[in-house]
Amino acid sequence: MVQQVSVFPPLKGAFIDLDKVPDPVFAEKMVGDGFAIDPFDNALYAPIDGKIKSIHRAKHAITIESEAGFDILIHIGLETVSLGGTGFDVIVNEGDHVKTGDLLTVFDMDYIAANVVALITPVLVTDIEEKKIQIEILPHDAITDLSKPILTVKLGNHTTAISEVQNTSPQVTLESDLITITNSHGIHARPAALLNSIARKYPDNEILMIKGEQSGNVKSVVSLLSLSVQHKDQIQFLVKGINGVKIIAELTDAIKNLHDDESENPIADPNSGEEDNKVENGKYHGVVASSGLAVARLVRQTGIQFEYERFAADEAEQLVKLDKTIHSLVAELENEIKDLSEFDIAHKNILSAHLMILTDPELITQAKNLITNGQSAAYGWDKATAESCKALLATGNQLLIERQNDLIDVRDRVLTILCGNESKKVAEFTEEVILVAEDFTPSQVIAMSDKVKGLVSVRGGVTSHVSILARTRGMPLLVGVAKEILQESEQNVVLDTINTAILNVKPTPEELNQAKGEVNRRIEALQIAREAAQVPAVTTDGVQINCLANIGNIDEARIAAANGAEGVGLFRTEFMFLETKEAPSEEMQFNEYSDINHVLAGKTLVIRTLDAGGDKKIPYITQMHEENPMLGVRGVRLCLANRELFKTQLRAILKTKAENIKVMIPMISKLTEYRAVKQIFEEIKADLGINTQIQLGIMVEVPSVAFISEAFAKEVDFMSIGTNDLTQYVMAVDREHTELAKEVDHLHPAVLAAIAATSIGAAKHDTNLSVCGLMASEKLAIPVLIGLGIKNLSMTVSTIPENKAFIRNLNYAKCKEVAEHCLSLPTAIEVREYLKSQFN
Ligand code: PEP
Ligand code: MG
Repeated sequence: MVQQVSVFPPLKGAFIDLDKVPDPVFAEKMVGDGFAIDPFDNALYAPIDGKIKSIHRAKHAITIESEAGFDILIHIGLETVSLGGTGFDVIVNEGDHVKTGDLLTVFDMDYIAANVVALITPVLVTDIEEKKIQIEILPHDAITDLSKPILTVKLGNHTTAISEVQNTSPQVTLESDLITITNSHGIHARPAALLNSIARKYPDNEILMIKGEQSGNVKSVVSLLSLSVQHKDQIQFLVKGINGVKIIAELTDAIKNLHDDESENPIADPNSGEEDNKVENGKYHGVVASSGLAVARLVRQTGIQFEYERFAADEAEQLVKLDKTIHSLVAELENEIKDLSEFDIAHKNILSAHLMILTDPELITQAKNLITNGQSAAYGWDKATAESCKALLATGNQLLIERQNDLIDVRDRVLTILCGNESKKVAEFTEEVILVAEDFTPSQVIAMSDKVKGLVSVRGGVTSHVSILARTRGMPLLVGVAKEILQESEQNVVLDTINTAILNVKPTPEELNQAKGEVNRRIEALQIAREAAQVPAVTTDGVQINCLANIGNIDEARIAAANGAEGVGLFRTEFMFLETKEAPSEEMQFNEYSDINHVLAGKTLVIRTLDAGGDKKIPYITQMHEENPMLGVRGVRLCLANRELFKTQLRAILKTKAENIKVMIPMISKLTEYRAVKQIFEEIKADLGINTQIQLGIMVEVPSVAFISEAFAKEVDFMSIGTNDLTQYVMAVDREHTELAKEVDHLHPAVLAAIAATSIGAAKHDTNLSVCGLMASEKLAIPVLIGLGIKNLSMTVSTIPENKAFIRNLNYAKCKEVAEHCLSLPTAIEVREYLKSQFN
């Protein structure tokens, strides 16, 4: 149903298109969409029936909440906030109900015109995207006529084409229109989980997805994944029962808003390339899923073996046994999830995926069908999971195939209960080992002891849960190696996923010794670096470099403090927003910021405001489909388009009243954006009565800022270069692009030139400058950054001790010479070669 509301001009005057208003905050529709009027008269009237929602302290702006639920903001004049209320006589009060044409404000035209940029008055419908509003400017004269509507606001669902009448009967089956899948990865694990969670809200409905001749149960992730819906495929939803219209609209909306989650980018299939899994002279090539170096005994990890009777006569008992097992495991998993820290993202996602598999209705039905055919509960469950694995394998889709080991993990948990704990034999090692297997399951990795130094598998992929866990543990993992590895005998081997992507099962005594030496050197160097972690990083010629940390949660803040970080140079708050079903409340954010600040005990804490959009979509923030999200509404653009969300975050930060806390705005591309933020920031401070000097700074990630860094340096409190984004925008290469990954090199001389320009601009106004992209963690890049004048480096927490040790051996004068030379080189390859020659 679409509702239409007419909006009347609130002023007599000349109509002006919004994009002609000489203030980008309005012209670029950062506040809302509508029109503007250059007034001929000093009286402002209500343009709609509604309630006065807010009157700005400076009396120049009024928001009216319409009865239909949308808001209209009228902003008399440009930059009139600076008048502090002088010249305005507001007739109404907040909370008053007004009718169209009621007088709201009388203002002194002469005074205002003499003291501000212009009297032009924008009239804006706000939250257009959030509330799915469409507006239409109606035909009008050049001079507004207060008796004629000037704009129509349309609210409601414009998408579903299904008759509402069909919504009433419980017997009815509704079919959606054909929907074309537009996201490039199709319905892979995450979209399937999203659709699944919508469908499960409606236990009384049967909900199917149809693709050609096949259909999948939307309440079953396994069934959905087995459909293998790809980019450009056409699907339909079929819903049986009441609320069909609503369910289809929700599912259709979810599909249309699907965006590619780049963290699930399919990697090159480890088994597809001849090059990747070749074996030469005992050297097994593979794909690096977690980097590291290990020398230890190769041991084959066998899957857990379960012994059970295939047949059972007591059908009812077997069914109850399976149900009880599933219920107890669901409770167990839910408790495990609850016990995890709110921000232990990787582990939480894995367990949630397992919960979804465990309660998958298709899987359970399949198992129960086998039981009613005279088989045991254990056999039924084992066979049903095996069938699901086969279905995933049959999709040929690497992303889905990687999800098999999650299924196996859940299978093992259920069978362990059904068959008795004694059947679960977890190998215990007395010596250091490198484990090799067809594939590992997440639970196996979680349970592995410190004796396990590395992992090698025939299957698996870079994005699998196993890989994420291996990286978290700092354990090398090589996937996609030839299956002959499973026949190799136990022997000492070298696994090198730092310098190569090779497992060497026949190392010569020299190779073995050399690798052992390197492992020991690394351990020793790390040990020494850790012991000296709290000592400042001062170059041999006396220049102190502040090593700060990039963190995403409080656990990393703790590690940062222990690793000798001089503070936090980047707290990526988006993880907090990504992990919650709705935007985290002001209180929750305030607590998180305060807790992290407590851990840092007075050291600098740079909190970056929400950096969403682009590759980081937040499900509860509505965004239009964008052809180029990386060039779209992301970072500060998204915050300015979602003011309330942004203000909540700023309030939560400001309320900490801690002067060591700094606020950093991501993805700034123009000064006007910074000024718009600064205005909001100051307004909130004034509203809250906060006088604390909390600095407001920006990230330098867009080349436009690097080019005119001096102008920014003059206005902002500090700047921090985000080399990850800066590189992608300087080189015009998507930072998440799998095939172009090698092209995204922050050591490219063009990127160095952008950093140099920023550094020169910042120095002119003595503005504090740091680097917080991945580049600041890379040893080879650190001397160049220091040479370019960067004295604050914010890096991955685990690299701080080593990097501090490395900096203590650098000479600042030499860094400057080296940086100068790098700027004169033509390619990234030459820069890297030169740096290697200088710093070994
Ligand atoms: C960057 O772009 O370098 C940066 C630090 O921000 P993020 O990686 O979070 O986009
Ligand atoms: Mg960035």
